[in-house]
Amino acid sequence: MNQNASIPTTATALPPEQAAFGHVDHWIFDLDNTLYSHEAKVWPQVDERITLFLSELFGLDGLSSRALQKYYYQRYGTTLKGLMEEHGIDPDHFLAFAHEIDLSLLDPNPDLGAAIAALPGRKLILTNGSRGHAENVAGKLGILEHFEDIFDIVAAGFLPKPERATYEMFLAKHAIDPARAAMFEDIEKNLLVPSALGMKTVLIVPRTPDPFREAWEQAAVEAGHVHFVTDDLTGFLKPLTRPGETVPVAGPQA
Ligand SMILES: [Mg+2]
Repeated sequence: MNQNASIPTTATALPPEQAAFGHVDHWIFDLDNTLYSHEAKVWPQVDERITLFLSELFGLDGLSSRALQKYYYQRYGTTLKGLMEEHGIDPDHFLAFAHEIDLSLLDPNPDLGAAIAALPGRKLILTNGSRGHAENVAGKLGILEHFEDIFDIVAAGFLPKPERATYEMFLAKHAIDPARAAMFEDIEKNLLVPSALGMKTVLIVPRTPDPFREAWEQAAVEAGHVHFVTDDLTGFLKPLTRPGETVPVAGPQA
């Protein structure tokens, strides 16, 4: 996974990874497990809160709640969508409950902030979570100020990525031409539509195995819609604005 490619560079020619982003001035980032590592144990807490929500709502034990959570996730894309469709649950209440978590393991990441700040053009977050959660996480990372806006699950009418309509709503709301955009994501299937719409895509894989995800959910996928793979977002972004440096890339085009 961490096979940093040695790309020959010269003073006059950009390495292919940098050249590939030369036309990009719209930078779109997923939030969870993309802008921070799973080692901060943020997502497992959200996951557990959702299980607890189901336990309390239906009076279920943990195992049964977990099974129901997986069913909703697979059938509707998010547990929330399933609860709204089948039980008319208030989304604001659910989102507030799910995101009541401890961010103490999440450290400020000034290097990532500097790398994002240096990118030319607009930067936005596109998340299946809530705006409040994104603000809390990006705020704790110390990078919130670099983003123009957050497009969350509420803005998406509770239709999660990878639904095509979600990306279309996002692009329309912010008047973004996908041909000038790049998308950074840790879930491979969430890059299918961005690639089809003409965006450059970068899959973020964990540096160390994430015990909360299946192996296939964190693999460096080789597929046409995954243009680049990296386990180091900051290291990937930095050279894009500093010609001559080598981009840490693993995967199909490495
Ligand atoms: Mg994610």
